[in-house]
Amino acid sequence: MIDGKIFIGGAWTKEGTISEVINPAKPQEVLGTMILSTAADVDRAVAAAGVAASAWKALGFVARGNLLFKVADAVDEHLDELARLAAEEMGKPISEARGEALRAVAILRYYAGEGYRSTGDVIPASNPRALQYTTRDPLGVVAIVTPWNFPLAIPMWKMAPALIYGNTVVLKPAEWASLSAIRMCEIIGPILPSGVLNLVTGLGRDTGEALIQHPGINGISFTGSSEVGGHIADVATRRNVKYQTEMGGKNPVIVADDADLNLAVEATVSGAMRSAGQKCTATSRVIVVRGIHDAFIERLISRVKELKQGDPLDPDTYLGPVVSASQFHKVVNYINVGQREGGQLLWGGDVTKEPLDHGFYVPPTIFDGVAQNHTIAQDEIFGPVVGVITANSLDEAIQAANNVRYGLSASVFTTNLGTALKCVSELNAGLVRVNEETAGVELQAPFGGMKASSSHSREQGRSAIEFYTQVKTVFIRA
Ligand code: NAP
Ligand code: MG
Repeated sequence: MIDGKIFIGGAWTKEGTISEVINPAKPQEVLGTMILSTAADVDRAVAAAGVAASAWKALGFVARGNLLFKVADAVDEHLDELARLAAEEMGKPISEARGEALRAVAILRYYAGEGYRSTGDVIPASNPRALQYTTRDPLGVVAIVTPWNFPLAIPMWKMAPALIYGNTVVLKPAEWASLSAIRMCEIIGPILPSGVLNLVTGLGRDTGEALIQHPGINGISFTGSSEVGGHIADVATRRNVKYQTEMGGKNPVIVADDADLNLAVEATVSGAMRSAGQKCTATSRVIVVRGIHDAFIERLISRVKELKQGDPLDPDTYLGPVVSASQFHKVVNYINVGQREGGQLLWGGDVTKEPLDHGFYVPPTIFDGVAQNHTIAQDEIFGPVVGVITANSLDEAIQAANNVRYGLSASVFTTNLGTALKCVSELNAGLVRVNEETAGVELQAPFGGMKASSSHSREQGRSAIEFYTQVKTVFIRA
């Protein structure tokens, strides 16, 4: 059991209204509690971050880097515990949760190293005796608002760059990832000066809203749904606060008729079904060129039949439950709509058990005969459901792939270099992967979407410096 508490100005408090956190695999089991932070709590957290900001900035890059190396070691020491907690709290298999915890440590080490790298350019000045250069200032207090699907990695890929570049942080994790955030802050908090990292838990519409509206916030980094992201962009734009919103996806795989079928099937299954389809980069459409359709479907179904769905803590589990009862009902509704609109249910879809007793399990579900305008070909489902669309040509496949409002990630399977390069050039997605699944993000490379998937900024790698700092141009006349 983890007791609800929030972290403000270096001190933990347990005061406040609490809400229970349940295990999505065993909904009768309570894993812990979380505090529903009030506007007054948010006020105190933002104030504490504001007080800590100037000393944290003044500490400098190298000293902050050294502290982040210590934070990385501390998280590393708690790897198994954090992985288990994340798996229990949101239902992803322990094998994936462990990978996520390892990634959180790698992210910390990467950004700790940023403390030793250059932060600007020297630029010739019109006066040859003058020195003109750029340097990077932090934004100040950054609000970080995160989703539940990567309870460890997403908060970390925002907090680590925010901190190394000299910002102080108020984190508001998703309701369904609050326990992981509490444990992470318990581990990290004592290493950092008071007020540099603050945690408020609570519901988005209350705690989250109070945070993004707070006048003491100088930047907002958000990952989550397009709906909430759009609202955050409105609020931030009105106050001229820098913001970054990473949102949904409807990620396609294109299977060309010269594809390596085993590779294409394995990557489709992994992209669509791992984490029960709850990744922003999950595969949710497979666009198959007609000639290879039957062979692809046959292998896809035989592979999906083998998947082990069950207890997230079992190391052999391929997919667990979805995160919550509301997510369960949303996904089941899409399965029903898919059938009503004429999609052909080839596998899965049978959700007969009462979810509140048995865990929020949605079986891996495959539709064939999906048309581009079907709801399940357009909306982000965020569950283990994939729809197969047949295209008559590669051009039609690319047109179908681009025919959605989102543009996060896209894959193509082909053994032809020309086909690969044509897809790389014509697919409108922030991440294009050849012969690799749509999911999978390298922490050292830029990550973000096109179209409705993002505010067109990029996270991770060296791109993060663009959001978490502002450029100062300096001219010094000797
Ligand atoms: P969400 O409902 O938009 O919530 C995201 C975060 O925003 C949560 O912490 C939520 O709190 C908070 N929030 C909700 N309303 C708010 C408001 N009015 N003001 C401030 N904060 C508010 O998204 P989700 O359901 O957690 O996550 C799933 C979505 O995230 C999917 O659309 C997925 O594609 C997207 N995602 C995108 C990426 C990416 O990098 N592009 C990565 C992962 C996930 P509560 O939890 O308390 O509601
Ligand atoms: Mg939500």
